[in-house]
Amino acid sequence: MDELRIGERVLAITRGDITRIPADAIVNAANSALVGGGGVDGAIHRAGGPAIMAELRERYGPHRHCPTGSAVVTGAGNLPARWVIHAVGPIWRGGGAGEPELLASAYRTSCELASGLGARTITFPAISTGVYGYPIEEAARVALATVREHLAGETTLERATFVLFSADSYEAFERALTELAAGSAGG
Ligand code: ADP
Repeated sequence: MDELRIGERVLAITRGDITRIPADAIVNAANSALVGGGGVDGAIHRAGGPAIMAELRERYGPHRHCPTGSAVVTGAGNLPARWVIHAVGPIWRGGGAGEPELLASAYRTSCELASGLGARTITFPAISTGVYGYPIEEAARVALATVREHLAGETTLERATFVLFSADSYEAFERALTELAAGSAGG
């Protein structure tokens, strides 16, 4: 399955490059120094152009810092979006250092910021599952459950889509979405 309906809203997964898929808000997997990096962060700054980094510098200063589990917003430069939400996920340290709560917080904060802006569509990468080493199966469960919970409450978001870059991460999200659907069917 690739979609779960939550009332009028939809939680979806797809494979692809997040910089190529139009959305009101695109979530970035940033680092807490907001300085740009590799992975999806590099792809977003390359595709979006220098305006995004310029805005981060201007709004948040040379010593900018975004705590793990939180997020900040900029415009989207040349990306097919209005906003980029730069979310900071946790580095995996074995799972006993609050990683699940911090990862959930990064997604929850992103959803809240997007709804505060009036966004109707949002896309996410699999935050923390690249260089930060978060195991994909566990990350998928936390990601989907957190966004589902947001979509079940008061929000402007109508559609939230996880854009998975690799076949492995897509399959992990597909399994987690199927589990979540089975759970919410009340079985
Ligand atoms: P983190 O430091 O949070 O782990 P990474 O960028 O290293 O961030 O990886 C996060 C996830 O984003 C990984 O699963 C990686 O495969 C994926 N990714 C990398 N490039 C893209 C892209 N262009 N679109 C969507 N996902 C991407």
